[in-house]
Amino acid sequence: MNTLQARIEAHIDTLSTFTATPGQGTTRLTYSQEDKLARNYIKEKMKQYGLEVREDGLGNIFGKLAGTLQDAPSVLIGSHFDSVPNGGSYDGPAGVVAGLEVAALFAEHNLKPTYPLELIALVEEEGSRFGGGLMGSRGITGLITDNEFKALRDQNGITTTEAMTEIGLNPSLPKKREPNTIKAYLELHIEQGPILEATQFPIGVVETIVGLTQFEITVEGQAGHAGTTPMDRRADALVTAAQMIAQLPSLAIAEGEGTVITTGRLTVFPNGANVIPKKTVFTVDIRSGKEEHIQHVINKLNMLIDSYSTNDIKITAVQQLYMQPKVMNPEIVSLFKQTSEQLAIEYCSINSGAGHDAMVFADVTAVGMLFIPSKNGLSHCPEEWSDSSDIARAVEILYETAKKLTETNGG
Ligand SMILES: [Zn+2]
Repeated sequence: MNTLQARIEAHIDTLSTFTATPGQGTTRLTYSQEDKLARNYIKEKMKQYGLEVREDGLGNIFGKLAGTLQDAPSVLIGSHFDSVPNGGSYDGPAGVVAGLEVAALFAEHNLKPTYPLELIALVEEEGSRFGGGLMGSRGITGLITDNEFKALRDQNGITTTEAMTEIGLNPSLPKKREPNTIKAYLELHIEQGPILEATQFPIGVVETIVGLTQFEITVEGQAGHAGTTPMDRRADALVTAAQMIAQLPSLAIAEGEGTVITTGRLTVFPNGANVIPKKTVFTVDIRSGKEEHIQHVINKLNMLIDSYSTNDIKITAVQQLYMQPKVMNPEIVSLFKQTSEQLAIEYCSINSGAGHDAMVFADVTAVGMLFIPSKNGLSHCPEEWSDSSDIARAVEILYETAKKLTETNGG
């Protein structure tokens, strides 16, 4: 194992200790104590690698290597460092660690870029605490306003502002960043699927990120005694929800071309064994590489809602997230490919079925994304694993690409 790979493993191992569920995967919710510990580690490494560190009003972390050109836009490189509950050690951190090591290579070679190189570690990509997801990148690009940010609450009613203050962050700092301060955004991420492992490519160059939308559906009926209410006099919110959910897979299958639909969360009120459910809230997540498929499924979902609405059953849908499919920047894609060839690293083209911060940045800047294989295609679970030698390969590609994009000589 070379020193680069050893450092990568040390970062990943250390970050994985900052979990609320030791022994049961990584649980690192945004603005939690585990966030604070991971944040301190990342900031310390950034400083060690010669970067100027700051945080914004969302708690995103930036580590900047200044460029020689005055007021020049930065080449951003990084990913997120929050996790899902009981997730793995690589989803997010792999990209933050890769960014750290690209900065380390700049420092080792004493390189002075023309355009700044800026490492970025983003909060709340997963949406595990405040919902919706991609909060850090959406805040930076102005898709979330200050007021919308302040209104977000976690399951315990704690606001973003309260949670930030709790770990010593300053929510009154600026959140949005002007697009003209960003030259490009590069991200390494684990594939979270089986393709690279099956085809035995260590690197996937992402061409497109699928579009996605998420709805929260609320079904309201009438509570009643489970023993005394006759079957024909019930307005059971859970039975209606179950009947609807059972029909969702067919909506995606009818579209084809990799269109997928998922209900991942269901909450029943009052959730008592002897009470007819009064209210049921569930999520619907729809993804596809083609926007037309997403639109078709949304139309069919609305028709489904209409068909189950009655005088006794009220159904409402709130769209919580909508992201168009995003094509990666063709010049960065070809830079990645040329560099891989020069380094004799085998790669293939791949599409991303998961949403990433990169797709948010694609609206404001040139974006490029690399994938590395996920063991057994697993992610969002403690078994999630990627090979540090693949992360090291990605670092080499990102380093060469970042040098070109920042117009750096030498190294
Ligand atoms: Zn991720």
